[in-house]
Amino acid sequence: MTIPAIKPPVCRLAPSPTGAQHLGNARTFLLAYWSARAQNAELILRIEDIDSPRVKPWATDQVIEDLAWLGIDFDGQPIIQTQRTDRYQAVLDRMIADDRVYPCTCTRTDIESASSAPHEHSTGPPQTSTVLQATGQERTITAESTIYPGTCSGWRVGDPLPAPGTYCWRFRIVSARRCFDDLVAGRICCDLGTAIGDFPVTRKEGVAAYQLAVVVDDIDAGVSEVVRGDDLLLSTFRQLQIYEHLGVASPEFAHVPLVVGEDGRRLAKRHGDTRLAHYRKQGVAPESIVAWAARSAMSDPACLPSPEATAAWELSRWHAEMIERIDWTRLSREQVRYS
Ligand code: GLU
Repeated sequence: MTIPAIKPPVCRLAPSPTGAQHLGNARTFLLAYWSARAQNAELILRIEDIDSPRVKPWATDQVIEDLAWLGIDFDGQPIIQTQRTDRYQAVLDRMIADDRVYPCTCTRTDIESASSAPHEHSTGPPQTSTVLQATGQERTITAESTIYPGTCSGWRVGDPLPAPGTYCWRFRIVSARRCFDDLVAGRICCDLGTAIGDFPVTRKEGVAAYQLAVVVDDIDAGVSEVVRGDDLLLSTFRQLQIYEHLGVASPEFAHVPLVVGEDGRRLAKRHGDTRLAHYRKQGVAPESIVAWAARSAMSDPACLPSPEATAAWELSRWHAEMIERIDWTRLSREQVRYS
Protein backbone atom coordinates (compact mmCIF):
# COMPACT_ATOMS: atom_id res chain seq x y z
CA MET A 1 0.00 0.00 0.00
CA THR A 2 1.32 3.43 -0.82
CA ILE A 3 0.59 6.24 1.54
CA PRO A 4 -0.49 9.34 -0.39
CA ALA A 5 1.82 12.29 0.11
CA ILE A 6 0.26 14.94 2.29
CA LYS A 7 0.92 18.37 0.89
CA PRO A 8 2.06 20.92 3.46
CA PRO A 9 -0.33 23.86 3.90
CA VAL A 10 0.58 27.07 2.07
CA CYS A 11 -1.18 30.40 2.58
CA ARG A 12 -0.60 33.73 0.90
CA LEU A 13 -0.77 37.48 1.22
CA ALA A 14 -1.50 38.97 -2.22
CA PRO A 15 -1.52 42.76 -2.19
CA SER A 16 -1.91 44.80 -5.37
CA PRO A 17 0.56 47.69 -5.36
CA THR A 18 -1.95 49.96 -7.08
CA GLY A 19 -2.08 52.33 -4.13
CA ALA A 20 -1.68 52.46 -0.37
CA GLN A 21 -2.98 49.61 1.77
CA HIS A 22 -5.75 50.65 4.10
CA LEU A 23 -7.55 49.28 7.14
CA GLY A 24 -9.59 46.78 5.15
CA ASN A 25 -6.42 45.28 3.65
CA ALA A 26 -4.84 45.14 7.11
CA ARG A 27 -7.76 43.13 8.43
CA THR A 28 -7.53 40.62 5.56
CA PHE A 29 -3.74 40.30 5.98
CA LEU A 30 -4.10 39.73 9.71
CA LEU A 31 -6.74 37.03 9.28
CA ALA A 32 -4.62 35.31 6.63
CA TYR A 33 -1.59 35.54 8.91
CA TRP A 34 -3.32 34.14 11.99
CA SER A 35 -4.82 31.30 9.98
CA ALA A 36 -1.48 30.47 8.34
CA ARG A 37 0.43 30.40 11.60
CA ALA A 38 -2.33 28.40 13.31
CA GLN A 39 -1.84 25.68 10.65
CA ASN A 40 1.96 25.91 10.70
CA ALA A 41 1.62 26.77 7.04
CA GLU A 42 4.17 28.43 4.84
CA LEU A 43 3.02 32.02 4.24
CA ILE A 44 4.09 33.60 0.97
CA LEU A 45 3.91 37.22 -0.07
CA ARG A 46 2.89 37.77 -3.69
CA ILE A 47 3.00 41.20 -5.20
CA GLU A 48 0.16 41.41 -7.73
CA ASP A 49 1.73 44.03 -9.98
CA ILE A 50 0.38 42.65 -13.25
CA ASP A 51 -2.22 45.42 -13.46
CA SER A 52 0.57 47.67 -14.76
CA PRO A 53 -1.20 50.90 -15.70
CA ARG A 54 -2.48 51.27 -12.15
CA VAL A 55 0.68 50.10 -10.33
CA LYS A 56 2.41 52.76 -8.21
CA PRO A 57 6.21 52.45 -8.02
CA TRP A 58 6.30 53.17 -4.27
CA ALA A 59 3.50 50.84 -3.27
CA THR A 60 5.46 47.57 -3.03
CA ASP A 61 7.98 48.93 -0.52
CA GLN A 62 5.14 50.49 1.40
CA VAL A 63 3.20 47.25 1.70
CA ILE A 64 6.30 45.50 3.03
CA GLU A 65 6.64 48.27 5.65
CA ASP A 66 2.94 48.01 6.48
CA LEU A 67 3.24 44.27 7.11
CA ALA A 68 6.32 44.70 9.29
CA TRP A 69 4.58 47.46 11.23
CA LEU A 70 1.65 45.11 11.93
CA GLY A 71 4.05 42.37 13.06
CA ILE A 72 3.19 40.11 10.11
CA ASP A 73 6.14 38.05 8.91
CA PHE A 74 6.09 35.96 5.76
CA ASP A 75 8.33 33.16 4.50
CA GLY A 76 10.94 33.40 1.74
CA GLN A 77 11.26 36.11 -0.85
CA PRO A 78 8.23 37.92 -2.27
CA ILE A 79 6.89 36.49 -5.54
CA ILE A 80 6.51 39.20 -8.16
CA GLN A 81 3.87 38.64 -10.85
CA THR A 82 5.62 40.72 -13.51
CA GLN A 83 8.56 38.29 -13.28
CA ARG A 84 6.33 35.32 -14.09
CA THR A 85 4.96 36.23 -17.50
CA ASP A 86 6.53 33.13 -19.16
CA ARG A 87 4.54 30.87 -16.86
CA TYR A 88 1.29 32.66 -17.65
CA GLN A 89 2.08 32.42 -21.35
CA ALA A 90 2.74 28.67 -21.08
CA VAL A 91 -0.65 28.09 -19.44
CA LEU A 92 -2.33 30.38 -21.97
CA ASP A 93 -0.71 28.42 -24.84
CA ARG A 94 -2.20 25.26 -23.42
CA MET A 95 -5.63 26.83 -23.18
CA ILE A 96 -5.32 28.04 -26.79
CA ALA A 97 -4.34 24.54 -27.96
CA ASP A 98 -7.32 23.15 -26.04
CA ASP A 99 -9.62 25.67 -27.81
CA ARG A 100 -10.73 26.91 -24.43
CA VAL A 101 -9.99 30.56 -25.19
CA TYR A 102 -10.59 32.75 -28.23
CA PRO A 103 -9.21 36.07 -29.40
CA CYS A 104 -11.67 38.89 -28.81
CA THR A 105 -11.37 42.22 -30.60
CA CYS A 106 -14.48 43.76 -29.05
CA THR A 107 -14.00 47.20 -27.62
CA ARG A 108 -15.79 48.48 -24.57
CA THR A 109 -18.20 50.34 -26.83
CA ASP A 110 -18.93 47.23 -28.95
CA ILE A 111 -19.78 45.30 -25.81
CA GLU A 112 -21.86 48.07 -24.33
CA SER A 113 -23.85 48.56 -27.49
CA ALA A 114 -24.42 44.81 -27.86
CA SER A 115 -25.81 44.72 -24.33
CA SER A 116 -28.09 47.27 -22.80
CA ALA A 117 -26.28 47.54 -19.45
CA PRO A 118 -22.62 48.36 -18.69
CA HIS A 119 -20.40 45.33 -19.12
CA GLU A 120 -17.76 44.05 -16.79
CA HIS A 121 -14.79 44.41 -19.12
CA SER A 122 -11.95 44.99 -16.71
CA THR A 123 -9.03 42.59 -16.71
CA GLY A 124 -8.16 43.41 -13.10
CA PRO A 125 -10.12 42.20 -10.08
CA PRO A 126 -13.64 43.36 -10.97
CA GLN A 127 -15.45 45.97 -8.92
CA THR A 128 -18.96 44.75 -9.83
CA SER A 129 -21.59 44.93 -7.14
CA THR A 130 -23.00 41.52 -6.43
CA VAL A 131 -26.08 40.24 -4.66
CA LEU A 132 -26.30 37.09 -2.57
CA GLN A 133 -29.71 35.49 -2.34
CA ALA A 134 -30.30 32.74 0.21
CA THR A 135 -32.23 29.56 -0.56
CA GLY A 136 -32.01 27.16 2.35
CA GLN A 137 -28.38 26.51 3.24
CA GLU A 138 -26.95 27.94 0.03
CA ARG A 139 -26.65 31.44 -1.32
CA THR A 140 -26.71 32.28 -5.01
CA ILE A 141 -24.54 35.09 -6.27
CA THR A 142 -25.66 37.36 -9.10
CA ALA A 143 -23.99 40.43 -10.54
CA GLU A 144 -25.34 43.76 -11.67
CA SER A 145 -23.54 43.60 -14.97
CA THR A 146 -24.28 42.22 -18.38
CA ILE A 147 -22.31 39.27 -19.60
CA TYR A 148 -20.19 39.19 -22.74
CA PRO A 149 -22.56 38.54 -25.67
CA GLY A 150 -20.21 36.05 -27.36
CA THR A 151 -19.55 38.13 -30.49
CA CYS A 152 -16.06 36.66 -31.09
CA SER A 153 -16.67 33.17 -29.72
CA GLY A 154 -17.01 31.53 -33.15
CA TRP A 155 -13.20 31.44 -33.51
CA ARG A 156 -11.68 27.95 -33.38
CA VAL A 157 -8.09 26.97 -32.79
CA GLY A 158 -6.26 27.12 -36.15
CA ASP A 159 -8.35 30.03 -37.47
CA PRO A 160 -6.34 33.15 -38.39
CA LEU A 161 -5.58 35.55 -35.56
CA PRO A 162 -6.50 39.24 -35.58
CA ALA A 163 -3.62 41.75 -35.72
CA PRO A 164 -1.36 41.69 -32.64
CA GLY A 165 -2.36 44.18 -29.97
CA THR A 166 -5.99 44.32 -31.13
CA TYR A 167 -7.38 41.42 -29.14
CA CYS A 168 -7.48 39.86 -25.70
CA TRP A 169 -7.93 36.13 -25.04
CA ARG A 170 -11.31 35.29 -23.60
CA PHE A 171 -12.07 32.08 -21.70
CA ARG A 172 -15.12 30.01 -22.67
CA ILE A 173 -17.09 29.21 -19.55
CA VAL A 174 -19.47 26.29 -19.26
CA SER A 175 -23.01 27.52 -19.00
CA ALA A 176 -23.89 25.62 -15.83
CA ARG A 177 -24.58 26.11 -12.15
CA ARG A 178 -21.59 25.69 -9.87
CA CYS A 179 -21.28 25.80 -6.07
CA PHE A 180 -18.41 25.76 -3.63
CA ASP A 181 -18.13 25.76 0.15
CA ASP A 182 -16.43 28.86 1.41
CA LEU A 183 -14.83 28.59 4.85
CA VAL A 184 -16.45 31.87 5.90
CA ALA A 185 -19.28 32.65 3.48
CA GLY A 186 -20.70 29.10 3.46
CA ARG A 187 -22.09 27.39 0.38
CA ILE A 188 -22.15 29.83 -2.54
CA CYS A 189 -23.67 29.00 -5.92
CA CYS A 190 -23.62 30.75 -9.26
CA ASP A 191 -25.29 30.27 -12.65
CA LEU A 192 -22.20 30.86 -14.73
CA GLY A 193 -23.96 31.45 -18.04
CA THR A 194 -26.05 34.31 -16.72
CA ALA A 195 -23.85 35.72 -13.95
CA ILE A 196 -20.38 35.57 -15.49
CA GLY A 197 -20.10 34.86 -19.20
CA ASP A 198 -16.82 34.44 -21.10
CA PHE A 199 -14.14 36.53 -19.42
CA PRO A 200 -10.72 37.90 -20.45
CA VAL A 201 -7.59 36.04 -19.35
CA THR A 202 -5.24 38.55 -20.99
CA ARG A 203 -5.24 42.22 -21.80
CA LYS A 204 -5.09 43.48 -25.37
CA GLU A 205 -1.32 43.90 -25.11
CA GLY A 206 -1.10 40.18 -24.36
CA VAL A 207 -0.24 40.48 -20.67
CA ALA A 208 -2.02 38.00 -18.39
CA ALA A 209 -5.10 39.36 -16.65
CA TYR A 210 -5.71 38.95 -12.94
CA GLN A 211 -7.91 35.82 -13.27
CA LEU A 212 -5.22 33.85 -15.09
CA ALA A 213 -2.22 35.13 -13.11
CA VAL A 214 -3.78 34.44 -9.73
CA VAL A 215 -4.67 30.84 -10.57
CA VAL A 216 -1.27 30.02 -12.09
CA ASP A 217 0.48 31.59 -9.10
CA ASP A 218 -1.64 29.78 -6.54
CA ILE A 219 -1.12 26.44 -8.33
CA ASP A 220 2.65 26.92 -8.69
CA ALA A 221 3.06 27.90 -5.04
CA GLY A 222 0.88 24.98 -3.89
CA VAL A 223 -1.47 27.38 -2.10
CA SER A 224 -3.98 25.46 0.00
CA GLU A 225 -5.97 28.34 1.49
CA VAL A 226 -6.90 31.67 -0.07
CA VAL A 227 -8.01 34.40 2.32
CA ARG A 228 -9.32 37.53 0.63
CA GLY A 229 -12.13 40.07 0.61
CA ASP A 230 -15.61 38.87 -0.30
CA ASP A 231 -15.72 41.37 -3.18
CA LEU A 232 -13.87 38.58 -5.04
CA LEU A 233 -16.54 35.92 -4.54
CA LEU A 234 -17.80 36.21 -8.10
CA SER A 235 -14.24 36.07 -9.45
CA THR A 236 -13.79 32.80 -7.59
CA PHE A 237 -16.25 31.19 -10.00
CA ARG A 238 -14.13 32.37 -12.94
CA GLN A 239 -11.02 31.01 -11.29
CA LEU A 240 -12.70 27.70 -10.49
CA GLN A 241 -13.39 27.33 -14.21
CA ILE A 242 -9.67 27.66 -14.90
CA TYR A 243 -8.80 25.11 -12.18
CA GLU A 244 -11.40 22.77 -13.63
CA HIS A 245 -10.00 23.14 -17.11
CA LEU A 246 -6.42 22.55 -15.95
CA GLY A 247 -7.51 19.52 -13.93
CA VAL A 248 -6.04 20.89 -10.72
CA ALA A 249 -7.86 20.82 -7.38
CA SER A 250 -8.64 24.32 -6.17
CA PRO A 251 -7.51 25.62 -2.78
CA GLU A 252 -9.96 26.29 0.03
CA PHE A 253 -11.35 29.80 0.07
CA ALA A 254 -12.10 32.06 3.02
CA HIS A 255 -13.78 35.20 1.74
CA VAL A 256 -13.88 37.68 4.56
CA PRO A 257 -16.47 40.46 4.79
CA LEU A 258 -15.47 43.87 3.55
CA VAL A 259 -14.91 46.78 5.87
CA VAL A 260 -17.51 49.50 5.41
CA GLY A 261 -17.80 53.04 6.76
CA GLU A 262 -20.47 54.33 9.16
CA ASP A 263 -22.81 54.81 6.21
CA GLY A 264 -22.58 51.10 5.30
CA ARG A 265 -20.65 51.82 2.09
CA ARG A 266 -17.34 50.22 1.19
CA LEU A 267 -14.50 51.96 3.04
CA ALA A 268 -13.14 54.68 0.76
CA LYS A 269 -11.53 58.11 0.80
CA ARG A 270 -14.82 59.76 1.76
CA HIS A 271 -14.55 58.03 5.15
CA GLY A 272 -11.28 59.77 5.96
CA ASP A 273 -7.69 58.67 5.62
CA THR A 274 -7.48 55.00 6.59
CA ARG A 275 -4.17 54.29 4.87
CA LEU A 276 -1.86 52.31 7.12
CA ALA A 277 1.04 54.59 6.17
CA HIS A 278 -1.00 57.52 7.42
CA TYR A 279 -1.64 55.91 10.83
CA ARG A 280 2.02 55.04 11.06
CA LYS A 281 3.01 58.65 10.38
CA GLN A 282 0.52 59.88 12.96
CA GLY A 283 2.18 57.70 15.61
CA VAL A 284 -0.84 55.37 16.00
CA ALA A 285 0.14 52.15 17.79
CA PRO A 286 -0.19 49.11 15.49
CA GLU A 287 -1.73 47.28 18.45
CA SER A 288 -4.83 49.43 18.13
CA ILE A 289 -5.36 48.25 14.53
CA VAL A 290 -4.64 44.64 15.42
CA ALA A 291 -7.05 44.86 18.38
CA TRP A 292 -9.79 46.30 16.17
CA ALA A 293 -9.26 43.58 13.55
CA ALA A 294 -9.26 40.87 16.22
CA ARG A 295 -12.42 42.07 17.95
CA SER A 296 -14.30 42.62 14.70
CA ALA A 297 -13.36 39.16 13.47
CA MET A 298 -14.87 37.10 16.23
CA SER A 299 -18.63 36.64 16.11
CA ASP A 300 -18.66 36.07 19.87
CA PRO A 301 -17.03 39.07 21.56
CA ALA A 302 -16.74 37.09 24.81
CA CYS A 303 -13.97 34.95 23.35
CA LEU A 304 -11.49 37.79 23.95
CA PRO A 305 -10.83 39.42 27.35
CA SER A 306 -12.24 42.91 27.90
CA PRO A 307 -10.54 45.94 26.28
CA GLU A 308 -9.22 46.93 29.74
CA ALA A 309 -7.65 43.50 30.14
CA THR A 310 -5.97 43.63 26.71
CA ALA A 311 -4.90 47.29 26.87
CA ALA A 312 -1.31 46.35 27.68
CA TRP A 313 -1.00 43.55 25.11
CA GLU A 314 1.85 44.07 22.70
CA LEU A 315 1.80 42.93 19.08
CA SER A 316 3.40 39.57 19.81
CA ARG A 317 0.83 38.85 22.52
CA TRP A 318 -2.06 39.80 20.22
CA HIS A 319 -0.74 37.53 17.50
CA ALA A 320 -0.18 34.60 19.86
CA GLU A 321 -3.70 34.95 21.29
CA MET A 322 -5.31 35.20 17.86
CA ILE A 323 -3.31 32.30 16.39
CA GLU A 324 -4.75 30.30 19.28
CA ARG A 325 -8.33 31.49 18.67
CA ILE A 326 -8.69 31.81 14.89
CA ASP A 327 -11.43 29.55 13.67
CA TRP A 328 -13.31 30.25 10.41
CA THR A 329 -16.52 28.85 11.83
CA ARG A 330 -16.44 31.56 14.49
CA LEU A 331 -15.65 34.39 12.12
CA SER A 332 -18.35 37.00 11.84
CA ARG A 333 -20.08 36.99 8.42
CA GLU A 334 -21.33 40.51 8.91
CA GLN A 335 -19.82 43.48 7.11
CA VAL A 336 -17.39 45.17 9.45
CA ARG A 337 -18.21 48.74 10.30
CA TYR A 338 -15.36 51.11 10.87
CA SER A 339 -16.15 54.34 12.65
N1 GLU B 1 -4.55 41.47 -5.20
C1 GLU B 1 -5.94 41.41 -4.79
C2 GLU B 1 -6.23 42.56 -3.84
O1 GLU B 1 -5.33 43.19 -3.33
C3 GLU B 1 -6.27 40.11 -4.12
C4 GLU B 1 -6.43 39.04 -5.09
C5 GLU B 1 -6.58 37.67 -4.49
O2 GLU B 1 -6.40 37.50 -3.28
O3 GLU B 1 -6.87 36.76 -5.24
O4 GLU B 1 -7.40 42.82 -3.62
